Amino acid sequence: SAVKMAANCIFCRIIKGEIPSMKLYESDKTFAFLDINPLSHGHALVIPKYHGEKLTDIPDEHLAELLPIASRIAKAAGAENFNILQNNGRIAHQVVDHVHVHMIPKPNEQEGLG
Ligand code: 5GP
Ligand code: ZN
Repeated sequence: SAVKMAANCIFCRIIKGEIPSMKLYESDKTFAFLDINPLSHGHALVIPKYHGEKLTDIPDEHLAELLPIASRIAKAAGAENFNILQNNGRIAHQVVDHVHVHMIPKPNEQEGLG
């Protein structure tokens, strides 16, 4: 299936370039960019271009690249320690209602972060 956009969705607007972002990766199905309010240096978000609120709303073919791209970004960032996180629903701390995978580097203690 083709990409699906929502006009009032902040992440769909980022994909379309209507809102600027620090883009890290783009393919026909996937988009990745830096988080505007990073939990650590290099905190990235990987999203499907197919708009859906929760993981369970997205067809498998639009989920297939998310983890490989998160992995590639972690590798490119030289992140030896990192967390992959994907929140669904308010109770689970989801704020933006467009599926996204967080890649959050976990710096060494002596670097003063994390
Ligand atoms: P959630 O809690 O929904 O899993 O995480 C949403 C994430 O999106 C947060 O880490 C937040 O900083 C990030 N975010 C929200 N709005 C924007 C934006 O306009 N640009 C970017 N780059 N990140 C955003
Ligand atoms: Zn969207």
